[in-house]
Amino acid sequence: MTKDNIKHYLIMAGSTSHMLRGDKILKDEGVETSLVPAPAEYGTVCATAIKVKIEDRNRAEKILRQNNISIEGIYPDKTQKLAGLVTKLMDSVISEEFIKVLKKIENGEELGFEDIVLLLKTERRVEKEALYHAADRMRREIVGDVVDIRGAVEFSNYCRKDCKYCGIRRSLSDLARYRMTEDEIMEVVHQLHEIGIKTVILQSGEDLRWTPEKISSLIRRVKKETSMNITLSIGERPREEYELYRKLGANNFLLKIETTNRKLFKFIHPDDDFDHRVQCSKWLKQLGYLNGSGSIIGLPGQRVEDIARDILFFKDMGINMIGIGPFVPAKGTPFEGYPKGSIEMTLKAVAVTRIVCKRVFIPATTALASLDPDGQTKALKAGANTIMLINTPAKYRYNYQIYSDKNMVDLKSAFKAVKEAGRKMPPYLKIDKMTKET
Ligand code: SF4
Repeated sequence: MTKDNIKHYLIMAGSTSHMLRGDKILKDEGVETSLVPAPAEYGTVCATAIKVKIEDRNRAEKILRQNNISIEGIYPDKTQKLAGLVTKLMDSVISEEFIKVLKKIENGEELGFEDIVLLLKTERRVEKEALYHAADRMRREIVGDVVDIRGAVEFSNYCRKDCKYCGIRRSLSDLARYRMTEDEIMEVVHQLHEIGIKTVILQSGEDLRWTPEKISSLIRRVKKETSMNITLSIGERPREEYELYRKLGANNFLLKIETTNRKLFKFIHPDDDFDHRVQCSKWLKQLGYLNGSGSIIGLPGQRVEDIARDILFFKDMGINMIGIGPFVPAKGTPFEGYPKGSIEMTLKAVAVTRIVCKRVFIPATTALASLDPDGQTKALKAGANTIMLINTPAKYRYNYQIYSDKNMVDLKSAFKAVKEAGRKMPPYLKIDKMTKET
């Protein structure tokens, strides 16, 4: 370890394709890598960097140069210190224990389980504000002020599973099921591409009628016709399928754990096995996806300690995108009568996740927007840096409600949240076109 406590280096490639090719070459050569958001001061908007261990830095550079991967720069992944964080708060009524944890954050020390529980449990207004403030500073210094905007198409609401909280679960026999055609999906993809969105999220229930051949064909078309980044969110599939989609150019994969409490996981997911879900997540990482996970806050029987373990799980697994939303009961499900998750606990979890996991994408989730019209603004002020638009065609979207009264986040509401949070829209969006359309 060096004097500055540097453990990793971040390699910025000359382009996205060089970055992805470089990452694969390094992995093939046995170098341990992960893909992370680029540092705000070096990267373009939410660009991605290859993270390598300090001892692999020179070897990684040599391999990349030998393979003609253009390198824009190599930077130390500095421990994030937040100078002055505590001094300002010393005069307020913050407890001594809380100040101790804040000092750790200020000094760039890692937080342990007890620290995280303490942050999540705080009920005092001034402490919550201090927590959000620390997370917001961490976000600003690590990924900057620009909010990454992505577009989602929910292309099928068929699902083979029966998760108890889910509004499209298998046994909801009254639900009108739909399956979009490839052409219908591509129409939306082109609309997103036209307004400059860089990443499309292709999301569905676990619908096996969407065979590997069909998904492959869709990926090929998105890549050929738009070159957009693709996030897949299609659930558990065999490793070979994940590998196939990765080879065809899928960049990110979203597979949420929802809770790391094994008993609770089994209770809410009658068809799933916890270890297998974790295994899928590991495969995705090994295959070089930007790997997404997340949790639901306020599940029946969940404790604050469970949320703390979720956050440590994201850190230990090296998850790159972490979606945290409140539990929202869905009509017709076994959980219909349970109380909603707390917005405040969700915001605290977002803030602690930013502080603990640091260089990650954290969306201001649609579930938050569904419970509170200002939910996304609040999340952006508590450490979030991404918004996902819902672009499913109107005739289908009301039948894709994982939970009831889902907010259909559109460009207008995203603009509003970004503005109210004092943040910036990404420069890649073609504002003229958007304002005409919104
Ligand atoms: S949460 Fe996902 S896997 Fe579970 S029922 Fe809903 S769509 Fe299917």
